[in-house]
Amino acid sequence: MNEADSELMAASFIKRGFKLTDDLKRADAVVVNTCTVRQRAEDKAISQIGRLRVWKKNHPEGKIFIAGCAAQKLGGKHLKNRFPFVDEVIGAKDIDKVDAMVELFFGTTQRGSAAAGQRGGYEPQESTAARQQDSAAVTTSASLSTDHLPPATVSNVSAYVTAMRGCSLKCTYCIVPEVRGPASYLPPEEILAEAAAKAAAGAREIILLGQTVNAYAYKTPAGVVSFADLLSRTSAVPGVSRVRFMSPHPLYFNADFFRVFRDNPKIARYVHLPVQSGSDRILKAMRRGYTRTEYLDIVAKIREAAPEAAVSTDFIVGYPGESEADFKETLSLVAASGISFAYCFKYSQRTDAEGLAPDLGEAEMEERLGRLLAEVKKNSSDILNKRIGRIEEVLLETEDSGRTSANFIVRLDRKTGLKPGSLIQAEITGVSKNTLKGRLTL
Ligand code: SAH
Ligand code: SF4
Repeated sequence: MNEADSELMAASFIKRGFKLTDDLKRADAVVVNTCTVRQRAEDKAISQIGRLRVWKKNHPEGKIFIAGCAAQKLGGKHLKNRFPFVDEVIGAKDIDKVDAMVELFFGTTQRGSAAAGQRGGYEPQESTAARQQDSAAVTTSASLSTDHLPPATVSNVSAYVTAMRGCSLKCTYCIVPEVRGPASYLPPEEILAEAAAKAAAGAREIILLGQTVNAYAYKTPAGVVSFADLLSRTSAVPGVSRVRFMSPHPLYFNADFFRVFRDNPKIARYVHLPVQSGSDRILKAMRRGYTRTEYLDIVAKIREAAPEAAVSTDFIVGYPGESEADFKETLSLVAASGISFAYCFKYSQRTDAEGLAPDLGEAEMEERLGRLLAEVKKNSSDILNKRIGRIEEVLLETEDSGRTSANFIVRLDRKTGLKPGSLIQAEITGVSKNTLKGRLTL
């Protein structure tokens, strides 16, 4: 979601003639898009802002903007006091005001170049693009985890499209509702227009985004547009070969979704379905609203609709009160759900959420995290190996690599001579670390 926001902010610069730059030295403006979902992400954002002090000294005319969730949480007053060289602070709830802010600072004067967005990766990034005259860097301090290797994220053939903002659930550990506000759904026409614009610019895969994206329901005079409708309509946008979504919540699955998922081959055979814990006691304490059995039931329904589908998840270890027995329930959920990978996080107290203090020490948290990561790795490796011998449809991201519908990266044995964005058939011949090896068959 942060990446989608970074793109949105970058667009405000681009339309005023800026270009993106990866090179801070050449940038005329820097936007730090911050995350605060865990304390560590916030700390990284703060240290990244601190490092810009020197940049500002060397570029007194340059502008520094701090955006996103940590900006929302900490507030403009606090950040400007602490970092007086910052020009403007725009909280996550005010993302819509970014355009006016860029206008205020830079007017409509045509620029020769650059504002930057960042793609892929979860670590703080300083992606910027080469300067011709004016450049801006949009950096993202989103941090999921370095503890587990995430699959590489979007490429030029994939594009994020925000379907909803905020969240109206109240998971006890989570700061998102506080910093992003309650759930609000974007009008379907806007979502489809953005998907169409991105497809026209070359995207072949659209990733619909929202904290509980499958809760999507937009009231119109003609009736409610459901998440299932949105999936169907996005898949029908000219140029779109695949539609993904992130993240659905176990509470909002329904028969309409499973029908569309089963019948529409353009809907990726992949669901990232955060579970957080395998223990009913902890799920209840977290206020997740489902049980382990209900979660497993949804996974079973996904596989019933599409047997080849992959499911991945998020886990939090060391939630206050998590006993060894609770943790074992989490461990056993890995094999029981057959997940293909997981982002695993140590519980981080967020004081703006209900924020219980952790009751495990750092060493115990690390120990549980290590055991969980090992279990996930073992399971992922089994799942990858089961793909050997299959013929898979691969959406090329480069001339010799791409992704299957189930979101596995495939590296081909030779260059195809085809453009990124082409759909090919490949025979899976082996596994190398967390990717598949393949041979072009068509
Ligand atoms: N809306 C999504 C999750 C959004 S936050 C959902 O409910 O499924 C992304 C992930 O960050 C979560 O799935 C959770 O695993 C992790 N996370 C959120 N708050 C956290 C906290 N306080 N400590 C550790 N991990 C956290
Ligand atoms: Fe946070 Fe829960 Fe909402 Fe996800 S569903 S964003 S974890 S409150």
